[in-house]
Amino acid sequence: MDLHQVMAQQAQSQESFYLYEEAGILAAARRLRTGFPDVSFLYSIKCNPHPRVVKALLGQGFGADSASLGEVLLARQLGAEPGQIFYSAPGKTDADLAQAMGQCILIADSLGELRRLDTIAGRQGLHLEVGVRINPDFSFAGEGGAPSKFGIDEEQLYPFFSENTCPNLTVTGIHVHLKSQELNAGILAAYYGRMAALAQRVSQVLGRPLDYVNMGSGIGIQYTETDIPLDVDALGRAAQQELAAFRQANPGTRIIIEVGRYAVGNHGFYVTHVVDKKTSHGKTYLILKNTLNGFLRPSLARLVCKYAGETTPAGTEPLFTAPDAFQFRTLKEDGPREKVSLVGNLCTAADVIAEDVDLPRLEVGDVVYITNAGSYAAVLSPMQFSSQEPPKELFLTQDGKILE
Ligand SMILES: *Cc1c(COP(=O)(O)O)cnc(C)c1O
Repeated sequence: MDLHQVMAQQAQSQESFYLYEEAGILAAARRLRTGFPDVSFLYSIKCNPHPRVVKALLGQGFGADSASLGEVLLARQLGAEPGQIFYSAPGKTDADLAQAMGQCILIADSLGELRRLDTIAGRQGLHLEVGVRINPDFSFAGEGGAPSKFGIDEEQLYPFFSENTCPNLTVTGIHVHLKSQELNAGILAAYYGRMAALAQRVSQVLGRPLDYVNMGSGIGIQYTETDIPLDVDALGRAAQQELAAFRQANPGTRIIIEVGRYAVGNHGFYVTHVVDKKTSHGKTYLILKNTLNGFLRPSLARLVCKYAGETTPAGTEPLFTAPDAFQFRTLKEDGPREKVSLVGNLCTAADVIAEDVDLPRLEVGDVVYITNAGSYAAVLSPMQFSSQEPPKELFLTQDGKILE
């Protein structure tokens, strides 16, 4: 059965649903592993915590990038070992820290958090190995640091190491994440080079090699029809060069890259129905089930563009990527076409996903689906709004089974 047939079949019993395709997820994971043979990968659970998706990636040897205690515990529950789970997020509470200890590798996001971790570890009579998230003295695309709510400024970290005021902690690794959705392999590779230099500086100040260097994400996916997909093999080769000297000097240091969207973004679809059709002052509207509330980002893109006026707004990940980051497709391939606006069934005029698009002519009961719905899709959508039945999230296994 091809994907359209699966959608058509599920659409008989579901008004709106997400469909995640395991074959595509596994292929993406394999491309990364082949392109970067000496790098460990983590899956950033926050982009799509569907247990089947997380499990598929754990099964490919990925660890977990957890953005909350809940995601730490989810990864544990799905079989990840504490040493494979990295918990990095700003604003962890004492309760988060205490409950996460022993379940994962903790990455402190501030000097204050390091001190709190030291206190909690001391109280429990533990000596804790921790990582630190760094806000480096460079940016993703060049030199020069910038203020950030994430991480510890590099220049504040070195005095902290030499003062050594946290007797119950040993810092054994570093984490940096500066940007998502980069499609320029040259920029990514140069960033990896700056990361290697940073890791070398940190290990010099510490006076010992690091256990791991987590270089974060940045690896982008094709959203718009004009985006040119990254060549992961070429990026892997360029990364190898940038990292070669560091690797030689630090053979025991594990290099890590995190990905969320690359693993699932293109391998999820949002499927819904036309529930009404009408014309008004010469415009044809297709009213769809659960758009803004089921999959927020296409409507949000219209809203952002409306307020931006003539200029093309820059991406604000993960909420807004580009004006045309999602494609609207139907299960009808030929036949007459029609210019329509796609709107949702909520009582708000903001519930618009496409205006005056050319689509095969659709009637009530026909299916419309949206691409690029695998990451930052279900999780970012206000499904409680107006007490509609929320979309289900379905997982299509490699051998064609549908699981919830
Ligand atoms: C969200 C996030 C990621 C994943 O980003 P993608 O662009 O989806 O790959 C990785 N690292 C950190 C720290 C994040 O917050």
